[in-house]
Amino acid sequence: DPRIARISSAIRVIPDFPKPGIMFQDITTLLLDTKAFKDTIDLFVERYRDKNISVVAGVEARGFIFGPPIALAIGAKFVPMRKPNKLPGEVISEEYSLEYGTDKMEMHVGAVEAGEHALVIDDLIATGGTLCAAVKLLGKRVGVHVVECACVIELLGLKGRERLGDRPLFVLVNST
Ligand code: IMP
Repeated sequence: DPRIARISSAIRVIPDFPKPGIMFQDITTLLLDTKAFKDTIDLFVERYRDKNISVVAGVEARGFIFGPPIALAIGAKFVPMRKPNKLPGEVISEEYSLEYGTDKMEMHVGAVEAGEHALVIDDLIATGGTLCAAVKLLGKRVGVHVVECACVIELLGLKGRERLGDRPLFVLVNST
């Protein structure tokens, strides 16, 4: 698809952020390119419309940028998957491991019901730990059917796709 090249070149790479040695994939420049941003949303909408998806679950923070326009376009609700102690209502949470230590992801109780079909979205998959936690929260804990995980960027080499196992992952751009 010719739109992919434009999306790819609109993503900026910032070396040594947030730590020395990290090449940070910065999607804020993609948001400045109105055509590339629209193409990004359109590609996801083309893939997920007419798939009977009732929930788009967005992972904090950049899943909150890409998730809502997709949800509106396909007629699904949007559910935020948040960092701990951010959501005001009753939550269910899932702990997951990071490079150093652990983190937690939370979702409001009652936002989704068992049997619903969900798309999980984030900007980027690295090790896959974040998406795995989101899938567990929705799938194992609530009984939602996660149709697919979707990201703008996949960092190859960290084997995030393997960590997701047989859960399908769709990405627009690959990066090393
Ligand atoms: P994972 O859990 O190792 O797959 O890391 C993915 C999470 O870290 C996502 O929520 C991303 O937003 C964030 N992340 C990791 N590296 C980058 C990057 O280079 N750019 C933007 N986000 C990143």
